[in-house]
Amino acid sequence: MTIPEIEKWHADALGEAAVSALGKSGFDAAYFSSREEAVRHALGFVKAGDRVGFGGSMTVVELGLKERAIAAGAVALDHGDPALSPEEKAATRLAQQTCDLFISGSNAVTLDGALVNVDGSGNRVSALTFGPKKAVVLAGVNKIVADEEAGYRRIREYAAPMNNKRLGIPNPCVAKGVCCDCAGPIRICKVYSTLKRMPAGADITVIIIGESLGF
Ligand code: SF4
Repeated sequence: MTIPEIEKWHADALGEAAVSALGKSGFDAAYFSSREEAVRHALGFVKAGDRVGFGGSMTVVELGLKERAIAAGAVALDHGDPALSPEEKAATRLAQQTCDLFISGSNAVTLDGALVNVDGSGNRVSALTFGPKKAVVLAGVNKIVADEEAGYRRIREYAAPMNNKRLGIPNPCVAKGVCCDCAGPIRICKVYSTLKRMPAGADITVIIIGESLGF
């Protein structure tokens, strides 16, 4: 086998294992080896006129899902839109909590079927947990880890420093490249969430993609 063939085998094996575990945790879950198939599946949940919230995910940005949802007739609720004032951003975060469809990434997906995330304000994990009629989570196979502990380690050692760098926030992890458990007011890691099972009353579809996407 060639190296790309072995890499594809590994992504497929890992992705299918994660989907199987997520299913046992009560989530609707599906694996697609390519981003095109994954985007098609995600767009199947978008209806014209829907208010679709976006959780600030780099994976979702890379997949161009906001633009494609708008093209499908949805109304986008994106607090990351640079054209919004601080008041409009706050109102958008609030509106996401009761939207028709919430589309998000996840900092980590575990092989025992959990979603692990760290937020600054908690709007993303809040909307994932309770409120929207439907949520769709998209994650590349690079997000798959063994368990909750490995998920939080992934966030400390990679995802959170990368997000600090992306946002231009001068926390100490930007200098070190790893979490230093900072204590200042600009710390972005404030809300720690593990969805170990589908929350009661929620409707979450997790789409795992056989590619490396986001942080
Ligand atoms: S806790 Fe502080 S140092 Fe650690 S990753 Fe978050 S912002 Fe960076």
